[in-house]
Amino acid sequence: MNIILLGPPGAGKGTQARILVDERNMIQLSTGDMLREAKDSGTEMGKIVADVMARGDLVTDEIVIGLIREKLEGDKAGGFIFDGFPRTLAQADALGELLENSGETLDAVIEMEVDDAALVARITARSTCGNCGEVYNDQTKPIPADGKCTNCGGTEFKRRADDNEDSLKTRLMEYYKKTSPLLGYYYAKGALTQVNGLGEIADVKAEIKTALLD
Ligand code: ADP
Repeated sequence: MNIILLGPPGAGKGTQARILVDERNMIQLSTGDMLREAKDSGTEMGKIVADVMARGDLVTDEIVIGLIREKLEGDKAGGFIFDGFPRTLAQADALGELLENSGETLDAVIEMEVDDAALVARITARSTCGNCGEVYNDQTKPIPADGKCTNCGGTEFKRRADDNEDSLKTRLMEYYKKTSPLLGYYYAKGALTQVNGLGEIADVKAEIKTALLD
């Protein structure tokens, strides 16, 4: 089964993707994570994308499609979760072709609905474990008092360079201008299901489970 998690920054795509990976042996393909890795490892591509990402602008379609193409050639396990990709209509068309060429189908597109005020609050309170990537939130899921990650025991936590109000405004604007048209695109294909992204993590998980029809 291959699915897309669609929604604005902070909608909780990464959190739900990690659950699906654990429970269904799916492979999370987060272009945001891939680009951050390229940036941290100092590759040529990483240098090119660093400023674009820090501003909250979109990286070129060519770069992200290339990243996804490579991953689709590898292990498929329980299927792919596309998280943060596609973000433009050109990326959506490219994904359709890539899947078709490898004999794969797109089984569901799940829109995680949230409102803008909730997004700003979530993102400016967000941090992650530097070791395993577990996501924390100052209000709803604070870093434990003993300073150790509940998932791996790691003791270093970081905030993303683009999780500040200026970049967030740009990221939201990019979402509404370039990514939200994908909702109509996938609705027309009969693939779109909406879930309420504002619920508790477990409730959102349950809604996604229903959406996946099992
Ligand atoms: P967000 O929390 O904003 O959804 P991501 O981790 O998915 O963040 O992405 C962070 C940044 O990486 C984006 O603001 C953008 O600069 C870049 N990026 C990630 N995925 C894509 C994509 N599919 N197309 C273009 N740029 C992307």
